[in-house]
Amino acid sequence: MPGRLRSWNIVVPLALAAAPLATAPLPAQGPAVSADAALAAAKPGRDPAQPIDTGYTRRIHEYTTESFFLSPLVDYLPASPTVPTPMAVLGDIAGARDNLPYSRDVYAYMRLLASKTPRVRVISIGKTEEGREMIAVAVASDSLMAHLDANGVNLAKLADPRSIGMNDATAEQLVSATTPVYYITGTIHSTESGAPTALMELAYRLAVDESPYVRNIRDHLITLITPIVEVDGRDRMVDLFRWHMAHPNDTYPNLIYWGHYVAHDNNRDAMGLTLKLSQNVLNTYLDWHAQVLHDLHESVPYLYDNTVGDGPYNAWLDPLLTNEWQMLGWNNVQEMTRFGMPGVFTHGTFDTWSPGYLMFMAATHNGISRLYETFGNGGTAETMERTLSPDETSRTWYRQDPPLPRVMWSLRDNNNYEETGLLVSLNYFATNRRQFLENFYQKSKRSILKARTEGPAAYVFPADDPRPGAQAQLLRILQMQHVEIARAASPFTVSVATPGARHADSTARDSSAKHAATRAATRSFPAGSYIVRMDQPYSRIADALLDYQYWSPDDPQKQPYDDTGWTFPENFAVRAVRVTDPAVLAVAASPVTDTIRAPGGVSGSGSVFVIANDGDQSLATLRYRMRNARIDVAEAPFDAAGQHFARGAFIVRDVSAHSLDDATRALGLRASAVATAPTVAMHPARAARIALLHTWQGTQTEGWWRQALDFARVPYDYINVQDVARTADLNAKYDVILFPPAGGNTQSIITGMPMWRNPMPWKRTALTPNLGRLDQTDDIRPGMGWDGVAHLQRFVQHGGVLVTVQNTADFASALGLAPGVSTHHPSGRNVVVGTLLRTRIVDDASPLMYGVPDSLAVYSEEGETFGVSNTLGGGRRGSNGEATRPTGRGTANDPDVVQGRPALAARNEAPAPIDVKPWEPAPVTDEQMRYPLGIIPPAQRPRVVLRYTDRKDLLVSGLLDGGSDVAQRPVVVDVPLERGHVVLFANNPMYRGETVGSYPMVYNAILNFDHLDAGRIVAPR
Ligand SMILES: [Zn+2]
Repeated sequence: MPGRLRSWNIVVPLALAAAPLATAPLPAQGPAVSADAALAAAKPGRDPAQPIDTGYTRRIHEYTTESFFLSPLVDYLPASPTVPTPMAVLGDIAGARDNLPYSRDVYAYMRLLASKTPRVRVISIGKTEEGREMIAVAVASDSLMAHLDANGVNLAKLADPRSIGMNDATAEQLVSATTPVYYITGTIHSTESGAPTALMELAYRLAVDESPYVRNIRDHLITLITPIVEVDGRDRMVDLFRWHMAHPNDTYPNLIYWGHYVAHDNNRDAMGLTLKLSQNVLNTYLDWHAQVLHDLHESVPYLYDNTVGDGPYNAWLDPLLTNEWQMLGWNNVQEMTRFGMPGVFTHGTFDTWSPGYLMFMAATHNGISRLYETFGNGGTAETMERTLSPDETSRTWYRQDPPLPRVMWSLRDNNNYEETGLLVSLNYFATNRRQFLENFYQKSKRSILKARTEGPAAYVFPADDPRPGAQAQLLRILQMQHVEIARAASPFTVSVATPGARHADSTARDSSAKHAATRAATRSFPAGSYIVRMDQPYSRIADALLDYQYWSPDDPQKQPYDDTGWTFPENFAVRAVRVTDPAVLAVAASPVTDTIRAPGGVSGSGSVFVIANDGDQSLATLRYRMRNARIDVAEAPFDAAGQHFARGAFIVRDVSAHSLDDATRALGLRASAVATAPTVAMHPARAARIALLHTWQGTQTEGWWRQALDFARVPYDYINVQDVARTADLNAKYDVILFPPAGGNTQSIITGMPMWRNPMPWKRTALTPNLGRLDQTDDIRPGMGWDGVAHLQRFVQHGGVLVTVQNTADFASALGLAPGVSTHHPSGRNVVVGTLLRTRIVDDASPLMYGVPDSLAVYSEEGETFGVSNTLGGGRRGSNGEATRPTGRGTANDPDVVQGRPALAARNEAPAPIDVKPWEPAPVTDEQMRYPLGIIPPAQRPRVVLRYTDRKDLLVSGLLDGGSDVAQRPVVVDVPLERGHVVLFANNPMYRGETVGSYPMVYNAILNFDHLDAGRIVAPR
């Protein structure tokens, strides 16, 4: 083919030059070496001695839209007399026009393949939320497949160098006798639909192709393939595609649901591990002790190997890994450019800061994370003409052969790029396997040495944490991350002096305490404290999750790709102390082997039981689990059973000690039995009837709310805006409506989508059997409508509670459902980008604040806040203390002087200004009282319960640029509206399973829905 270079003489020297070993040369491998060398030097391209499948090959060329979208690795398909091609299941080739297989077809082919060749094995790796199977497919030579277990034992030793006494010589022997594992995952993002067919064909090629290039892979590498990561979403995507093909002239709906809970964010769960797909892939990756996790995506033309990406790189990774990214990435670019395939590049705008991406599981567990973006047509298998934007086709230093401005693009083109890139990578990895295995051992070893080199030595979770439930929840995530945790047998003391480190201790939440903590020389921990040692193979993921993040406002990267801060102890409101003193490693502690749970149960005797409110979500679980129990909530602190209880404590009656003991043990709650109920103001905590409301324009962010409620086993009805439009009396069904961040904006929540084309159903039918499981409608276009707005208003006026968050708080404010509240977005760009910010409690008597620790860190997406006023239409906003005066004579603090006029008499002077803080509404003035129509009655005014702290303490973790119009402003506001309430959150309190410290504010709104005015102080006028 013109322009395609076929000269390979420089490949081998380059590969060798890129493979310097830090240690002594490897032992020779006998006669195999020369054969290996020949394979490693093999050029890509078919073995002329092996017949090709001519029909299949003809269609490859037919479905490929330009000759330069092919490579010598995929421009033919080898034939096998015994092993069937993907045609057997698909009825056509992989990547065929208009052909998108369901998961069952993909699995059927993989199992057919496994039944026909010993080189392929299919393993079930778990189920999805909706019960669909996930699989992994292993492909390697007959001999490697026959010794998978023994090879796995070797890999396990390299993965944990403690098991070989950290002996480098032993490691060298293992390296030369062991085959690495390269794990490829496809279609986590359901609208990026090409990977399953590419991976079906890749498995076939790896098993069947006798070309030396592919044999080099098969003989020296175990390829592991999960063809579909998001299986629930895949089957929905195929349904949608079928609907589209059956209605060719209609506009088709957007894929509203991917997985059961979240859509695109399923690739942001590698920290919290809340999704089955994350858990199953991580367990598979670590059980196989794989060296690479390579995740396939589709959005960028034509192949962007984005792992090299751009800065800032994640700060907790071994630099050896980031070098490996460069090696693999640039090799990919070189080889595919050599094939004449345009648009392959590796540097780009993706920053490698957040460890939330699926592929990053490898990076944080001593492996190599990789991610391809190839080009796709947005989920469809149709061939379409695509026109790219100038920034996608420009020639840059890192993209010398950019994509073309306009091409026909097919699923086959996509499959060609995916398979070619993968084969090039697998071959490079196979050839350089010793170097990569050596690095794998070195990275594992350096993760263990970390405790005594860069540190810290450990993180300690004190046994006396006031939030044991949240502590256990965080520790369970570390356990799921395969992090080892030990428990101290007795009290211990370590040095914690870390000069200059202001944030070393998540227990010190304001600057004075932080400085005090910095000064303190030692710190003692009680027996039973948990120790997460950093001298273990998976120390890096623990460090990355538990440490603080700092993203400089001056960083050259101005477009963070995702959240910039996540610090789990702050997010969970749990104490964790970063200890650099290696003495902590000598503390007597035993490994924790069971799943960590908070202690619970009933102590003492009596028929009344008191449970402290520490903000544990299990309190809500208990309320719904024991529906017949009488549960009251204390509105004030009190003493009972020899203990002091803060506001919000549960007083439980009409339940047996035995059943409460069972429940509290299971939930990790401690109940104290007393003879009589304490004499304290209290109100019932009822099991509110909950609706969770969504739009049809996007369900991703509310999915995290559904997940949190499901995990806490708090029941709710899942309703949509059209249900609200239809239901005049919402109070008959619900007490609380949660309206989490929703797809759309205030206008489109009401109006929905344009009605000028065809109806777009989202429902279960014979054609679309996987749609409609979560919710369904004949037409996703209509929104809430003005009837729906009126119904919501009536719901609140008649005593309901509406909880709004971020853009739904905008909605409530704009529509007059929250008189006196305006929403505020900081001026300028990128002031806050997914940052943890410090708050202060303004009104601790509000039930919303029961059990909420002061100085809580909350997740802020963009620095949103509220303004509050005692009058409609806004009033004077509070100031942040900076002097303000009109232009005039004198200094900023002087009065101006009118020339030629005597000084003012006292009676003519303005009243002294009242100092109004940014979180406060200005008091009503005499001038306003002259015509009080717009003055909100005192009992109906906004009640600010949580605000951001002062500017100097505002940043907890991540990026904060400026922030003066975020600091001190309201974050959570409770607004009475006639008999009900609208609660507004500027933060997102239920997000990615990470904001556990903020969960109680939502559960408090639910459990106290009919008593939110408790503790309220009403202004005199
Ligand atoms: Zn993607």
